[in-house]
Amino acid sequence: MKLEKSAAAFELAKKFMPGGVNSPVRSYQNVDCNPPFISRAKGSHIFDIDGNNFIDYVGSWGPMILGHANEKVVDALKKAVERGTSYGAPTELETELAKLVQKFYHSMEVMRMVNSGTEATMSALRVARGFTRREKIVKFIGCYHGHSDSLLVNAGSGAATFGEPSSPGVTVGTAKDTIALPYNDIAAVEKIFNECGEQIAAVIVEPVAGNMGLVLPEENFLQTLRDVTKKYGAVLIFDEVMSGFRVTVQNKITPDLTCLGKIIGGGLPCACYGGKAEIMRNVSPDGKIYQAGTLSGNPLAMTAGIETLKILIETPKFTENLTAKTSKLLAEIKKVAGVEIQTPQAGSMFCIFFSDKKVRNYADAAASNQAQFKKWFIAMLDQGIYLAPSQFETLFVSAAHTDEDFAKTIDAAKIAFKELI
Ligand SMILES: *Cc1c(COP(=O)(O)O)cnc(C)c1O
Repeated sequence: MKLEKSAAAFELAKKFMPGGVNSPVRSYQNVDCNPPFISRAKGSHIFDIDGNNFIDYVGSWGPMILGHANEKVVDALKKAVERGTSYGAPTELETELAKLVQKFYHSMEVMRMVNSGTEATMSALRVARGFTRREKIVKFIGCYHGHSDSLLVNAGSGAATFGEPSSPGVTVGTAKDTIALPYNDIAAVEKIFNECGEQIAAVIVEPVAGNMGLVLPEENFLQTLRDVTKKYGAVLIFDEVMSGFRVTVQNKITPDLTCLGKIIGGGLPCACYGGKAEIMRNVSPDGKIYQAGTLSGNPLAMTAGIETLKILIETPKFTENLTAKTSKLLAEIKKVAGVEIQTPQAGSMFCIFFSDKKVRNYADAAASNQAQFKKWFIAMLDQGIYLAPSQFETLFVSAAHTDEDFAKTIDAAKIAFKELI
């Protein structure tokens, strides 16, 4: 694989941006290779400036559920851009998108559009704290909720640990109000609520965890979160920024607040938080909890989101078909593996852990074979398969992936797996 032009572009970019990138994982530091610099993308394919053509399983980290540059989305955007790119004033588009969101998420009675998943979770926490007049929050180790201070806290392993900042710049004062527990650990949740349930404003969780690789919730984990938060008057927040519109968890368990992002903007910057009217009516200007945004509800982002969600709704069996496609791909990958792998799947989300045991939490994910992952990643990239450059990321199948893409992916996987043995 030739990456000469990308290598030069990367050197230049490094002069201007930390690591040459505007979001750390793009720099490929984990895999000792230069990132391809992208020139365009269409459908299931992404193209770099050296002329390489990859089959894309990253999908801009989740948003591109329809594939890249979907014609309907692009056409609507072209028309929208002619009408002006931002007004900072209300439009009918915002209500239209909110209505579509509510079709998927009935529990979101009242919602607010923002510009990134980080903003959505940060704002939801503020609302939970303002509503309950409490300060502590519970999160789970290995769940990522964006980079706001309260949530950049991981804490150690094992039993309940009061927060340690996971980044310089997050103050000890902020971190001490964040309690981080192991994912899927029901006993740890019950213990912390017994100890200080009356001080806990919110539990925030990825109901399907996609930021430590893909880790599924076990039987009763989410139900326990629902039960204890109800009992102690804390707010349950589902961070569905990644899983939203791909996986259905809310038909069984209803959170108080939900955060959405990625797919909701159809590839443009947009996210959303919302839930029970009783809680959301405390947001300014209905209530006193302040939250605002110059570009929030921006007409281009609303348009891309509306077109994307409409297609999801109007295409018969959209989710079922995408899920079935993903299962088929994973079954084939398992067949050709020849090394021990785990292939968790939730809807069109999947991941490949190089591990011989089921991954239940962050500690299990971290124990998987990183050296094998790295070799596999490079071998796949070399053969034109574009995967996330880290074992701790989820991969995505889009509606644009074809049987031919899958056949090429399996052929490449066969060769990549052989290099590990
Ligand atoms: C991506 C992600 C975020 C952060 O969203 P940004 O738009 O990158 O700020 C938050 N929560 C989850 C679960 C995510 O996957």
